[in-house]
Amino acid sequence: ETALLWFRRDLRLTDNHAMYALEQWLQEDNSRTWMAFFHIEKKRIEDPCPHHDYFFQNLEAFSKECKEKDIRLYIKVGKIGKVFESLGKEKEISAVFFNEDEVPRAVKRDEKARKGLKQAVFYPFKDAHFHASDEVLKKDDSYYEVFTPYYRSWFKKQKDKPFRADPAFLASRQVNKALSDKKDRDILKEYNKQAETNWEKVKEQDALDRLDTFADDPVKYYENERDILAEDGTSRLSAYLKTGRISVRTIYEALLPKLEEEDKGAGTFLSELAWRDFYNMIHVSHPDLKNKELKEAYQSLSWSNNKENLDKWKNAETGYPVVDACMTQLNETGWMHNRGRMITASFLVKDFLEDWREGEQYFGRRLIDYDPSSNAGGWQWAASTGSDAVPYFRVFSPIRQSQRFDEKGEFIKKYLPVLKDVPSRFIHEPWKMSKEEQEKASCIIGKDYPEPIVDHAVQRKRAIAMFKGEDE
Ligand code: FAD
Repeated sequence: ETALLWFRRDLRLTDNHAMYALEQWLQEDNSRTWMAFFHIEKKRIEDPCPHHDYFFQNLEAFSKECKEKDIRLYIKVGKIGKVFESLGKEKEISAVFFNEDEVPRAVKRDEKARKGLKQAVFYPFKDAHFHASDEVLKKDDSYYEVFTPYYRSWFKKQKDKPFRADPAFLASRQVNKALSDKKDRDILKEYNKQAETNWEKVKEQDALDRLDTFADDPVKYYENERDILAEDGTSRLSAYLKTGRISVRTIYEALLPKLEEEDKGAGTFLSELAWRDFYNMIHVSHPDLKNKELKEAYQSLSWSNNKENLDKWKNAETGYPVVDACMTQLNETGWMHNRGRMITASFLVKDFLEDWREGEQYFGRRLIDYDPSSNAGGWQWAASTGSDAVPYFRVFSPIRQSQRFDEKGEFIKKYLPVLKDVPSRFIHEPWKMSKEEQEKASCIIGKDYPEPIVDHAVQRKRAIAMFKGEDE
């Protein structure tokens, strides 16, 4: 018998649930063999964007890591049904081990894979989250809609320990020369060669090192610093979680000593990870999360559809420094601070009155940590249309947010060097500088840096009226 270990968003050799289960399956019978496998969706590899670039560079690094452990990762590009069908023809495969992905799109993909490889038994394992969508339910077995009570139940649940398999044992039980995948590997190599950015720190070890550093020290300051834009006060683990370079169990294990001491930073950090599980559950219970407002009352709001404004938001040219600095951070680094995501999302929706779906899609292409559930959940939260949303009348002021979370303008100046000589008292509202002050700061508003495109006070009223259903 031969099994397939199908890697997906779990590019790691340590603490991998499906891999661990495969090891047990192999141990039950000495004649059993296996092969490691990754399927690349054709549509994705033909559609370059930073998010895809990052993922595929991780995939190439992962393939090398497998090789270092004498594991051969077979890669196939194509439509899922067809790929599995021809796999079944080339090789007799009786079992497929894989870590479950509950997102609706992934579920559909898996159904096609099953149809393509009818002769095999598919064994799904829970791996990506602490708790799968059906593991934290209300007393009547329905899904939660609001985070706080969800978190209370989530917190009480026993967390799994890491699942550690032995790569050397697995390497010794691989099938020989399973498939020819040279053509497919070349496609991957070619894609990566042409990528806009060469992402650094894409190894599994990089993720573990980052966790080590964070759990050792910064987590202590997490409580106080996680909202400060200029600080490196958060874990920066999101992209590793997205690609599966690290598991939540390994993170939990590293934090355990601090959690046991009831360290506040570690506690808050854990609750942020629970948001990730929460949005996964919301996505399962609302498969249309990416497209449709959860609150029915807001399903037919009349958004602006102003392409010019949308482009200004994307290109960091709104004239509000904090918004532009955050968008520059996204465009240049593929990552944005959580506070920045809230500020820019709120600005697009409540100041520009643009459809939140536009923002969701833009983030989806640019974020290296893009996660369909957390992203759509975050956008619906910011747009006040989600299940656990801020009420529509609570509108973020880009000036106030800037004063609170980038008091001295350090973050703004880092990403918008054109404002580097603007005095602190004007950094949040540079348009208030006099002509002389603008000249002194070498920053002429309207020439070197844009004037604010909209007046926040006016737009705030318009947004509230739109949500109330009052036509102008
Ligand atoms: P930390 O503060 O160190 O948090 C640790 C981990 O907890 C994160 O890595 C992440 O996995 C999880 N987490 C933290 N906050 C949230 C949250 N609000 N929702 C869900 N999970 C959370 N996160 C993504 O991983 N992918 C996305 O595509 C994404 N899009 C977002 C869009 C918007 C509009 C908003 C408001 C938030 C979005 N988030 C998204 C959540 C959050 O901003 C990021 O997870 C966080 O900034 C990642 O940085 P970090 O790893 O340093 O976070």
